[in-house]
Amino acid sequence: MCGIVGYVGPRVATPLLVEGLKRLEYRGYDSAGVAIMNGAGVETVKEAGKISRLEAMLAANPVHGTTGIAHTRWATHGPPNQVNAHPHVSDDGTIAVVHNGIIENATVLKKMLEGRGYTFRSDTDTEVLAHLIEECFDGNLEDAVIEALRQVEGTYGIAVVSSVDAHKIVAARKGSPLLVGLGDDEYFVASDVSAILAHTRKVVYLDDGEMAVVDRNGYRIVDLNAMEVQKKVSRIDWDLGQIERGGFAHFMLKEIFEQPQTLENTMRGRLLDDDGTAKLGGLNLTDDELLAFDNIVITACGTSWHSALIGEHMIEELTRVPVEVEYASEFRYRNPIVNERTLCIVISQSGETADTLAAMREAKRRGARTLGIVNVVGSTIAREADGGIYIHAGPEIGVASTKAFTSQVIALLLFTLKLGRLRDLSILTGREIIEAMHRLPGQIQQILDRSAEIEALAEEFKRASNFLYLGRGYNFPVALEGALKLKEISYIHAEGYPAAEMKHGPIALIDEMMPVVFIAPHDSVFDKLASNIQEVKARKGRVIAITSRDEEALAGKVDYEFRIPETIDLLMPVLASVPLQLLAYYIAVKRGSNVDQPRNLAKSVTVE
Ligand code: GLU
Repeated sequence: MCGIVGYVGPRVATPLLVEGLKRLEYRGYDSAGVAIMNGAGVETVKEAGKISRLEAMLAANPVHGTTGIAHTRWATHGPPNQVNAHPHVSDDGTIAVVHNGIIENATVLKKMLEGRGYTFRSDTDTEVLAHLIEECFDGNLEDAVIEALRQVEGTYGIAVVSSVDAHKIVAARKGSPLLVGLGDDEYFVASDVSAILAHTRKVVYLDDGEMAVVDRNGYRIVDLNAMEVQKKVSRIDWDLGQIERGGFAHFMLKEIFEQPQTLENTMRGRLLDDDGTAKLGGLNLTDDELLAFDNIVITACGTSWHSALIGEHMIEELTRVPVEVEYASEFRYRNPIVNERTLCIVISQSGETADTLAAMREAKRRGARTLGIVNVVGSTIAREADGGIYIHAGPEIGVASTKAFTSQVIALLLFTLKLGRLRDLSILTGREIIEAMHRLPGQIQQILDRSAEIEALAEEFKRASNFLYLGRGYNFPVALEGALKLKEISYIHAEGYPAAEMKHGPIALIDEMMPVVFIAPHDSVFDKLASNIQEVKARKGRVIAITSRDEEALAGKVDYEFRIPETIDLLMPVLASVPLQLLAYYIAVKRGSNVDQPRNLAKSVTVE
């Protein structure tokens, strides 16, 4: 969520900062700004709206200087306007701060600072930091930041500059991601590697409670007692091409089309074909330990929560270990039954989702072992979990998750195979599953090759104001995910439901205006689902069916049909979700929505 970039070095900072912001724009984008040390003092330029507006302002009034910080904001306190945009500047104009996160005791601190004569201009919680650091400043910026942060409650990733202690950036984190990029005689700070990948692949990730002091001559990482911390330098193996659109109209479309490859990447080196099982290097659990758990809790948010539901179904079916799926935001605030005999799996694309991270920490506190299913290498969840499975889907830039979802399902299946084969799953069933997994990338390609059919369907339905998505068994979570995709990017109201549950309420909504998408492949619950399709048709609903073969039971009952290849039941969700991703995408494009940056949403949700 939102983004931070900072630069210290020999080059002019502004273009580097703006370029970095653009690469972060997908994370949160209601306003943006920069603060540059221009030789005379701190010069701040900020603007509501897109980065391109900030860029135009900077082009009209260039700011020169070689040290600066920049921010894209996703508002939590106060509307997204120019005044509330970051950086925020101290009363005396010498200190500028950018901040991701929320200062929870901002009201108390503001009162105290107002009492001491400080004037507040914005509605943000962040402005408190600027004044508080000024209040604590005694010539040395890192000392002032430490002093200020001691008084702060909440979450933050911050970067701070001062015109008095100049040519230096002080950055600190608690709960929001932050890293230092190491270039040749130049240094960056950033909330996400994509901001700086064009300039360096060497980074140092900050952990909570750490602060980086960066100047032209190098960097130091210290804790909030100013004690130096030794950190490892990580090398990023993503390349720039992966974070660019490469000829596709949108990142989301590119990411949908990458799925044959990303699924290969998730599976690579992990399938043991002959033994019908999977090898997972990062679990950090012995086989005996894996067998000792009484139950599994999977916790996640949004799309990852949908993959968790599919995981629950798979794990229970093939391993017979009881599984519960919890919204991370709910899990953390109740009194969950989790102990040393519980395995807690947390799923997050970014590995930074605040609710999921907090849920994981809560599970740990209660003695559970934690396993992260994460895409971003080196992210907080990846580092704090006891073990994990990287999904290796490559950077996902589109706010609406697509390729990460299908890879999460596959990661869960790898885990299921591993645990299942340690328990009752036969080698033959294990092998059958693996064979089906190997076929999956080619089958997805077949669906993608027919994307024009989905585009035509989107043309037909682009004016609908409601949609219902129905599925059963493994495909009920697909119905939820299909509806979520459509909501997120087209702003059409859509609901996902278990197909049979429809008659207990939503059936009241069905009339000739209501498109109903049935996920109806030929699986073990097809016959039951066919009856649900009849029920909708009898009420004149417009039926769109995702099927996998010619079905007599559907003759005359379906208005539009899209055929997907056949596979085993537990892999159907992967195939069935692809046409639904495309449907949401094309409808949104045809309605003129900004697909990669849907309103109000941000990619990596680092606030509660
Ligand atoms: N809470 C701060 C604000 O509303 C920071 C939001 C963000 O993370 O962008 O300005």
